[in-house]
Amino acid sequence: MTALLDCAKAFDRMHRGVLLEKLWSTGIRGKLFELVISYYYRRRQRVKLGKSTSDFCKTNLGGPQGSVITVISWLIYINDITLAMNESECGLFVDDVCAWIADPDPSKCIKRLNADLDRIYNWSVCNTMVFDSQKFHLLDIGKPNIGKFKKLAEFNGTSPTWCSEAKYLGIIIDNKLTFTPMLNYVTEKVSRSLWRLFNHTNHVTGASVRSLKLIFSAWIMPHFIYGSPIWIFLMYDNFHYSSPLRPQYKKCFENLEKIYNKCCRNILGLPPGTSNLAVLVRLGIMPLNYLLAYRACTWYLRIVKGLAGSEVHDQLWNLYSDDEAWTQTCFFRPAYELIKRLNLYVKDAHKIDIFTAPFHVGRRLLKEAFFHELNTLWNDYDGCKIGHIIHPEWKPLKWQNLMTCKRVNVQYHRLAVGRGNTQVWYDRIGISVNKNCRFCKNTEENIEHLFLHCQCLTTDRVLLKSKCEAHNITFDLQTLFTHPKLQIPVEKFIAKHIT
Ligand SMILES: [Zn+2]
Repeated sequence: MTALLDCAKAFDRMHRGVLLEKLWSTGIRGKLFELVISYYYRRRQRVKLGKSTSDFCKTNLGGPQGSVITVISWLIYINDITLAMNESECGLFVDDVCAWIADPDPSKCIKRLNADLDRIYNWSVCNTMVFDSQKFHLLDIGKPNIGKFKKLAEFNGTSPTWCSEAKYLGIIIDNKLTFTPMLNYVTEKVSRSLWRLFNHTNHVTGASVRSLKLIFSAWIMPHFIYGSPIWIFLMYDNFHYSSPLRPQYKKCFENLEKIYNKCCRNILGLPPGTSNLAVLVRLGIMPLNYLLAYRACTWYLRIVKGLAGSEVHDQLWNLYSDDEAWTQTCFFRPAYELIKRLNLYVKDAHKIDIFTAPFHVGRRLLKEAFFHELNTLWNDYDGCKIGHIIHPEWKPLKWQNLMTCKRVNVQYHRLAVGRGNTQVWYDRIGISVNKNCRFCKNTEENIEHLFLHCQCLTTDRVLLKSKCEAHNITFDLQTLFTHPKLQIPVEKFIAKHIT
């Protein structure tokens, strides 16, 4: 059973007298103590609206918002609320308070809860805090259910509300711990921030692939990632691209994936219907499930190495040494199992063990192993023949900021996945019935023919070839459509002949 408490206007209610007492009893003395006193002494405030201002009025509660002293003061101020929790375990994060009790006997559980709620109420009175019981969230998680005892929960004479889900630190926790409400919330959040990317993806006036990727990772990706280590491994029985999604997650995760793939497709300016795999390979990034699993695994490695704080490190080892608890973890065990599987490849290829290697080495090799596994998926994929020629391997790629113009850059990427303006493509989408080359008229017009063979384009091909020779690059479709040094010459070739 979990109680999530909400301190109403926490910072503004901090009593300065009480604060100074607490600082003193924490052992803060001398210059530092005097500094804090002078910081809060005779604080006054006024309201400014347009050009007019109100009179000053004195305040004795709270501190200036956004100041470091106020935040640290608050942390010291709230810290002793934990002394009020004799029965429950608790978590504090700034003004978010969370307490939980596990008890096989529901009636005893409620009694213990009420005892702590009483003490929390007393604490709040002594500390001039107000806990709004209407904003209290009580969650009944796990078995046995609290059932009829729920109505016995009490805080200062009122009954706090029982909920089926509640938000804590930006994560929606539901009482069955499925995290589907969280997934739907992520989908909604991501959808609402899509304009930041789509404002710049226009095929004529839009930004370069590199800028778009930057916008995507700065503004949209954080919504996908936040909290994902908790739920990503719940999606599958065994994390692998061949495993199906668990039925209860099928719809909500597929919705999320769809948005992710749409973003990737639009970053490159590729048309709807382009195979998702080809899009991701061309962009050089992992599919959503792999990306989130990779991020989760890097957290696991951080925790193992003690780089994520001692608390969570101890938690990991406590769980690890308890077989039953370990099998039930929805992050630790699956992350460990996944790293263990990929570690087989790393040990084989590099003679290095991810678990014992330094963190930055382990993370790099883990990423390589993730892409190695994805390569099997790409190699087994029958579609996108041209995509396979240009990208024989799925690996991280960095695209450039330079481009002749957006319109041609979009063609450059479309041609690379077999969806550029060639006669073959026009034929496939029904714009033209003649697949033959628009120049020499006697061979099928695909990019291979245009760039490597067409007799009518020899002059410009010689130019491209000389560029390749100057930079010591092989002249083939793969380098033409991936090598940064060839991008502009290839775009010029496209602008001149293939529009
Ligand atoms: Zn031709």
